[in-house]
Amino acid sequence: MTTLLITHPSSLRHETPEGHPERPDRIRAVEAALEDERFSGLIRESAALGTLDQVVLCHPRDFAERIVAAAPRDGLVRIDDDTTMSPGTLEAVLHAVGGAVQAVDEVMTGQVANAFCAMRPPGHHAESVKAMGFCFFNQAAIAARHAQRHHGAQRVAIIDWDVHHGNGTQEIFWDDASVLYASTHEMPLYPGTGAASERGEHGTIVNTPLQAGDGSEAFREAMETVLLPRIVDFSPDLLIISAGFDAHWRDPLANLNLSEPDFAWATQKLMDIADRSCRGRLVSILEGGYDLEGLSRSAAAHVLALMRG
Ligand SMILES: [Zn+2]
Repeated sequence: MTTLLITHPSSLRHETPEGHPERPDRIRAVEAALEDERFSGLIRESAALGTLDQVVLCHPRDFAERIVAAAPRDGLVRIDDDTTMSPGTLEAVLHAVGGAVQAVDEVMTGQVANAFCAMRPPGHHAESVKAMGFCFFNQAAIAARHAQRHHGAQRVAIIDWDVHHGNGTQEIFWDDASVLYASTHEMPLYPGTGAASERGEHGTIVNTPLQAGDGSEAFREAMETVLLPRIVDFSPDLLIISAGFDAHWRDPLANLNLSEPDFAWATQKLMDIADRSCRGRLVSILEGGYDLEGLSRSAAAHVLALMRG
């Protein structure tokens, strides 16, 4: 059994304003790191173009159509304070959605053991009717719903270790007992949500905020004492990781102090749960990570752990 890597060149054509941290070089750095000899065992695929029928699994059609209509022919269009569309954005967004769905298809049908989607823009800040925080459509949420609608998954767990809280994923599944959303993130920090008291209508939202300055020890303790036991109890049919790497100590947007071994450790722990709960089925989707070296080294450690399974 093998690990699938899904990428698409459209990720490089979603342009953001000069100096914006969410930039094409992020994907160039990750792809360069995964060219190393150690990754020769990966199955590599190009992401399919996602469809609006996939997007509407988590977003109303009129919102999806508004995003499509907002795409500019040239120049940049501002969607919110830090979220902009360029002429290449829509194609990148739809390939990010299509790639996540493709990863779910191949993992759920047992063609591959697990998968990593290395595309941009990220998705976890996108709420059902709101594009924000560099995000347009919520790939991780769409992937979870797709697994339920098309592969008979009853329960899906989404674990989000991006340094920012995934307000979008939380909002989409707030009153849905069939999806567990579990997050560690720095708090206070953008977008401001993610307090431990935010639990959802059915107690299936699990937030474990960390503080600026926290590192490996606090992260692993939050995982081992809160998040991992909750995922084990939930007994998911699929695990999805919202894999942001901006909790890395080098990252310029936040102040946690994780390093590559922490991401490898968390990956292994989640794979162990997936092995026991759902024959190892795990799909990982890139979210944030804005220091190119911290991002690429962390993504490499994460994918190496996926391959060791
Ligand atoms: Zn982030």
